[in-house]
Amino acid sequence: SDEKLRQSQKMEAVGRLAGGVAHDFNNLLTVITGYSDLLLRELSEANPLREDAEQIQHAAARAAALTRQLLAFSRKQVLQPRVLELNGVVANMGAMLRRLIGEDIELRTSFDSLLGQVKADQGQIEQVILNLAVNARDAMLHGGKLTIQTANVYLDQKSVARNRELEVGEYVMLAISDTGVGMSEEIQAHLFEPFFSTKGVGKGTGLGLATCYGIVCQSGGDIRVYSEPGTGSTFKIYLPRLLTSSAEISTPKASGELPRGQE
Ligand code: ADP
Repeated sequence: SDEKLRQSQKMEAVGRLAGGVAHDFNNLLTVITGYSDLLLRELSEANPLREDAEQIQHAAARAAALTRQLLAFSRKQVLQPRVLELNGVVANMGAMLRRLIGEDIELRTSFDSLLGQVKADQGQIEQVILNLAVNARDAMLHGGKLTIQTANVYLDQKSVARNRELEVGEYVMLAISDTGVGMSEEIQAHLFEPFFSTKGVGKGTGLGLATCYGIVCQSGGDIRVYSEPGTGSTFKIYLPRLLTSSAEISTPKASGELPRGQE
């Protein structure tokens, strides 16, 4: 559709611009970090100027994290789509996610033990989960509950209607829910646009969800948001479910090899 085309053209332009700026900026940051390191080494433990130098270092480190994010966004990453089990991917991220959200937020998982497989780039899927978890954390400044759920779902004609590139069929769904501040309809309408952020100058880049959107769409899936101000938000990502390949279904060579009833 026109809207989608415009969005992807915008993303591409932003990506090219951001990549160029981020690269040069990163070189300057190396200089800032290098000199503040030198300064810190020169200053004695008791020198009150140490704190100033540490502030410079701290800000430079934050800026470096930001440019890394911009570079990751703009880079045409080499995708390595592989067969993935999302339960395992999330489980592997458990320790990191817990550290990320802190002690005031409870982490719960609810895995479908019969979850189907998907084909996607693991690093990218991890980035999507990470971005969604960071947003959930930022929405729960006074604590709360973050739930990650997986399930097999069937998307019918009605449910794919709003995204023309989506096909009717079997999907694997991964939902990340928070009990945070939630979002107005107005905010929900602009959520996935590059540089849309309500987090304030120096806090958000507004690239997190735009990146998630790009990754999930590239994998043939979709991302949807359900939210209510004051109650919380749920982001659901859908990825096409792989049908069990014939290699995985063992076919007995001679009939009668399997006991009746197990076929
Ligand atoms: P950023 O996090 O840098 O602001 P994002 O693209 O990740 O950029 O998010 C855009 C905006 O969407 C956020 O600034 C915030 O207003 C809103 N948002 C995203 N996730 C949530 C959430 N879980 N709860 C409330 N608001 C959210």
